[in-house]
Amino acid sequence: MSSAILVLSGPSGAGKSTIIDAASSEIGEYYFSVSTTTREARDGEIDGVDYNFVSKDEFEKGIDDGDFLEYAKVHDNYYGTSLKPVKEALSAGKLVIFDIDVQGHRLVKEAMGDRVVSAFITPPTLKELESRLYSRGSDNSDIIEKRVQNAKDEIKAIDEYDYVIINDNIQRAKESFVSIAKASRLKWSKRKRDEFVKGWLTL
Ligand code: ADP
Ligand code: 5GP
Repeated sequence: MSSAILVLSGPSGAGKSTIIDAASSEIGEYYFSVSTTTREARDGEIDGVDYNFVSKDEFEKGIDDGDFLEYAKVHDNYYGTSLKPVKEALSAGKLVIFDIDVQGHRLVKEAMGDRVVSAFITPPTLKELESRLYSRGSDNSDIIEKRVQNAKDEIKAIDEYDYVIINDNIQRAKESFVSIAKASRLKWSKRKRDEFVKGWLTL
């Protein structure tokens, strides 16, 4: 199978992790890019699986050492994507899935160009987002309100994405995601097309 790059963004609480988990057996071999963050782990989150949890000093050393493909400050914490495992997964022909914010999406597009396929995931309304954040029960109300405020800005970037998934029903959202993940493997970069045409024209 050919490698592919799929960026998922959307407000915290949109259902991105739930959708990836639900689709995991239907999208072929993939690598979920485990981000590094300075935010505290939530109950149930596992270091090295959900995120690599590090201190601010460790994160800043990673920036200086050039470890990150992209990084951003979101809700007062650093979040970043490590370059090395992404490169390895792409060389192994895997679909690489990123769960990153709208700033990260712009940076990944700059770095990886027209290979990137992107989807913006959101609950049907801001009110529903807030209610899901409260029912997830993983953050206190100050943190939730910060996420809700941030979501009001994030939704304005919806035009920058190839696809939009409205997560009102998990089964339907999962099916849309599976279609997008499969289609992302069929996307050809400009370079691949140019090489194909060159070979095709050779007599
Ligand atoms: P994200 O990864 O985008 O931050 P989560 O996957 O953690 O979001 O989902 C946030 C909360 O919303 C979780 O408690 C999850 O169970 C719930 N959730 C996800 N999708 C739906 C849906 N379609 N309807 C109702 N609740 C949902
Ligand atoms: P959460 O704290 O809810 O897990 O994530 C908060 C926000 O940070 C989400 O919008 C999520 O997509 C984003 N995020 C997670 N990892 C990264 C990353 O490596 N880079 C960037 N730019 N954003 C990230």
